[in-house]
Amino acid sequence: MSKIRGKDTTPELIVRRLVHLAGFRFRLHRKELPGNPDLVLPRLKKVIFVHGCFWHGHKHKSMPKTNTAFWEAKIRTNMERDKQNIKELKKIGWSSLVVWECRTRKKRDRAKLARKLLTFLNG
Ligand SMILES: [Zn+2]
Repeated sequence: MSKIRGKDTTPELIVRRLVHLAGFRFRLHRKELPGNPDLVLPRLKKVIFVHGCFWHGHKHKSMPKTNTAFWEAKIRTNMERDKQNIKELKKIGWSSLVVWECRTRKKRDRAKLARKLLTFLNG
């Protein structure tokens, strides 16, 4: 997915900053883990995915008006792969958290996001 996701998107930087502020150390894009997670916390065996809403099929996103069937199929494939990756990670003892791009956009949502990250990382 890295090809279409881009490496240092703003939502990802926001999540990194929040996790860092919370005092956690992490690594980035571990290729040896299923799904190449965006943030990896090896000691905790936890990973965080920061998902773009369109590419990963967040339900508020509508399909383009042209080539709709193509996009639908593509995004459905992405969603299935995401689900599979989380399942694979679980199987080898890793917990995953998905952060949606839209939850990082507004400043007023950041506190909520920070709490969610803390709950996950401390859990
Ligand atoms: Zn979204």
